[in-house]
Amino acid sequence: MEIEVHKFGGASVNSAMAVENMASIVARVQSQSRAGKVIVVSAMGKTTNALERLIPGVCEPEMREPLLADVIEYHLQILRHLFRSPKALVYGLIKKLFDELRSEIMAPAEGRDYNLLYDRVVLYGELLSTTIVSQYLMQQGIDCKWLDVREVITTNEQHRAALVDMEASGRNTKQLRTDLTEGKVVVTQGFIASAHDGSTTTLGREGSDYSAAVLAYLLDSKSVTIWKDVEGFLNADPKYFHNTVKVRQIPYSEAIELAYYGASIIHPKTVKPLQNKHIPLYIRSFVTPEREGSAVGEFDKIEPQTPLYIFKRNQVLVSVMPKDFSFIAEDNLEVIFAELARLNLKVNLMQNSALSFSFCVDYNEVLLKELIERLQERFVVKYNQEMELITIRYYTQEVIDSIVEGREIVVEQRSRITAQVLVAQWCS
Ligand code: ASP
Ligand code: MG
Repeated sequence: MEIEVHKFGGASVNSAMAVENMASIVARVQSQSRAGKVIVVSAMGKTTNALERLIPGVCEPEMREPLLADVIEYHLQILRHLFRSPKALVYGLIKKLFDELRSEIMAPAEGRDYNLLYDRVVLYGELLSTTIVSQYLMQQGIDCKWLDVREVITTNEQHRAALVDMEASGRNTKQLRTDLTEGKVVVTQGFIASAHDGSTTTLGREGSDYSAAVLAYLLDSKSVTIWKDVEGFLNADPKYFHNTVKVRQIPYSEAIELAYYGASIIHPKTVKPLQNKHIPLYIRSFVTPEREGSAVGEFDKIEPQTPLYIFKRNQVLVSVMPKDFSFIAEDNLEVIFAELARLNLKVNLMQNSALSFSFCVDYNEVLLKELIERLQERFVVKYNQEMELITIRYYTQEVIDSIVEGREIVVEQRSRITAQVLVAQWCS
């Protein structure tokens, strides 16, 4: 049986109208292909952010009820639009999820691991959205089934950033394969999974693209389509850049490079499982579903050829010099990298000279303070905040000049294909 995977993010289901639109896209793809379809749906709108504030220990007790009431009301208002009959089955299903969520957030936090509590609370965003969407698709006459993805995707016990066990997950796909008969739709969650010990885990924020890729890999799916609010893969984030160009074709290796440099459109882990099984990834717009979008796949080069830009704001440039004015050598670097690894700080750019070593990391108040204190034991440390790291693939000098627009370049690095410049951030 041919299988397709489609993924709908939070923005594509953030209101009753959005859900109606999403359902019309499902009906449309149903009319275009008889493949069995797995539909991965994220939590509605900003629900995950709201739930993060409700985790025991995070939330002030007096704030719990009003915050929970907001989450409940948000979903109910969508429900009331989509299901006119108060007797619809969905109201009972949703009420049960609200009750479970309430008891999780009222649980005592003392002595319990934050990451574990996190996973026990945030999963309700995806359970609520997939329940509502699957019931709505059924109401619209689409032959559809709801699946708890935790029955399939198995991970280790690293809560909040769990690693998928592909082999174990692969052993759980039998029922799903049987359900995916011709033209059948299975609606399920992204982002959440189940650990070997049976507890719920999550795969990291924005993880449901990755879930879609994992399911595609496990099911040998024909394709993955991610439905977004942009017209495909743009050469820059339209938040920072006007005159974006749509890139129609992106080789897997290019997509991995872009994710590495921080392009927000692709979750870094998503591409690898797809590349391993030669599954194409389509990025299409849920606003203009009739248009073609972009494809990541087995291409030689990007098409059209255009510079690609990645903007990373809120960077900190840290420079360290040995206190005794000795050279920067391997033993110093070892100390520096050990600290960075311990604090789980990812280096976005680095530069070495005889007497100093500089690197750039994302700003995080707590971690930065700790890093600097530790490094100051052995080094003279200087740092600059509010920097912006701009990465340009397929650059020309003209392109760099126009992006920098007279700002002073603090660090610059070029390879044959990629240029990176660190400049002071413009106020926004
Ligand atoms: N709902 C989760 C989040 O907002 C996962 C996802 O949407 O990809 O991070
Ligand atoms: Mg989301």
